[in-house]
Amino acid sequence: MKINIDPDSGFCFGVVSAVKEAEKELKRSGNLYCLGEIVHNKAELERLQNKGLKTIQHNELDKIKNQTMLIRAHGESPETYNKAEDYNITVIDASCPIVLKLQKKIKAVYIELKKQNGQIVIFGEPGHPETIGLVGQTEKNAIVVTNISDIKKVDFSRPVALFSQTTKSIEEYRNIAREIEKNMSSHFPDTETPLTVNHTICKQVSKRLPLIKEFCKSHDVIVFVSGKNSSNGKILFNGCKEKNRNSYHVESPSELAPRWFTGASSVGVCGATSTPKWLMENVANKIAEITTNE
Ligand code: SF4
Repeated sequence: MKINIDPDSGFCFGVVSAVKEAEKELKRSGNLYCLGEIVHNKAELERLQNKGLKTIQHNELDKIKNQTMLIRAHGESPETYNKAEDYNITVIDASCPIVLKLQKKIKAVYIELKKQNGQIVIFGEPGHPETIGLVGQTEKNAIVVTNISDIKKVDFSRPVALFSQTTKSIEEYRNIAREIEKNMSSHFPDTETPLTVNHTICKQVSKRLPLIKEFCKSHDVIVFVSGKNSSNGKILFNGCKEKNRNSYHVESPSELAPRWFTGASSVGVCGATSTPKWLMENVANKIAEITTNE
């Protein structure tokens, strides 16, 4: 049985650097709070928890006065930084530079667009930390759309600047932009439609979908490793299923079922931007064990 780990899967550089920052502080002090899960991956969380990392939620900031807290790659809204200052919390800011750049851009466009009675529309998940951080740049006035039917929240007679959460699907983003433009154009028959579509999906994510699809085509069975709540994981796993119907989504080696590999001669192991390499290796080793004992 041939078992290959996809060389293009695993942590994106934003997550790699957040984990490095956490490890550096844990090595120094053995104690660090992270606001929300540092990665959407149970196994990696456990590994860091064992080194002293504690995950806290936004409503618990008052409990960690004078302590040190890491802001993860997803970034935060200005409100969080203000609260941290109020509680004298030392912040290690591991926001991904791509997210920070996007936050800045949204803030600048929001200030400009306000003068023209315009709207900021964000294609994202309403409860997703990155989207919350992006909405926070607009005094919470941005409209979040998750799918085509959500665009009815937009006032098509007013200017729109459209942005996307960095981990969303490019195809869905294009469809949403197209639909908004279609609806707006009838309100502006004699002028150019005042819609700006900003290309804000992270290339670390968008380039992975075509790469993972290629990887899936060349294996009999695909085992995709990621947290089930990872937004990027859902998109990539759908890509796997599209190209290879023998694709399975697991969070850990314990979920592997021997029957998946019956009659197969090659297995590909891949994962999301939040999947650590060591976990894909553990899954590959377990598959080797299962298929050798069969
Ligand atoms: S997916 Fe892209 S934007 Fe998001 S943390 Fe990773 S590198 Fe940064």
